[in-house]
Amino acid sequence: MFRFLRIAILLTILLVVAGRQFLAPERLNSWDKPLWVTIYPVLVEADPATRRYVKSLTPRAFDAINEFLKQQAARYGFSLEQPVVIQVADPLTTAPPPALPTENSGLGVALWSLKMRWWVWRHSRQDGLAPADAKMFVLYQQSKPGQLMERSVGVRNGAFGIVNAEASRQMTARNRVIITHELLHILGAVDRYDMASGQPLAPDGLANPQQSPLYPQQRAEIMAGRIATSAHGWRRPATLKSCVIGAATAAEIGWL
Ligand SMILES: [Zn+2]
Repeated sequence: MFRFLRIAILLTILLVVAGRQFLAPERLNSWDKPLWVTIYPVLVEADPATRRYVKSLTPRAFDAINEFLKQQAARYGFSLEQPVVIQVADPLTTAPPPALPTENSGLGVALWSLKMRWWVWRHSRQDGLAPADAKMFVLYQQSKPGQLMERSVGVRNGAFGIVNAEASRQMTARNRVIITHELLHILGAVDRYDMASGQPLAPDGLANPQQSPLYPQQRAEIMAGRIATSAHGWRRPATLKSCVIGAATAAEIGWL
């Protein structure tokens, strides 16, 4: 009896969570009011340095994202006083979210997406937080030599992002680049780099596709996330100051 009840309850929750994605998702990229974004720092490891770093984070640590969006919107004739309002939640000490599916199989992704929604729902409620349009879970960790960090994702249908970030002052600005990239996914932007090589895809993945000669580029298109130094070479931007929002991305997020 108890087992039956448990399954019934789980199924109901799953249906409610799943059902919400079939309702028309709220248009997040209408830009008629500021977009509320909650950053949830997640402590996935018990490292004192990580904890100290996370404790030092305030909304001001993310101001540059607002500044960046404001400046870039202006290039497209959009005057946004405050594109985003960012609030920072209390750090979560929890097991990492469900691991990303290793392959892009439809079922694997669908299952992951369902498990993620459940995880987001369970971990996003906190007293004193205004309801957010988008939730970014930033998994802060120390960099481990020879070990690549998990990739980050921004999921439009669900309006959440999972960002793997290095917990260090030197990386704060770069983390903002990743957070912004994933946030723009939520707003409808797609990737503009080659998945295998990381190479920005010309022309839309280049910050300045009109430049002559085309390479080296000076900045990164935010959805390419990399500065193309040649047709077969790239480097990562250290800050949002080295990034732009290209016309194709601008169109996807409702600026054109
Ligand atoms: Zn991406």
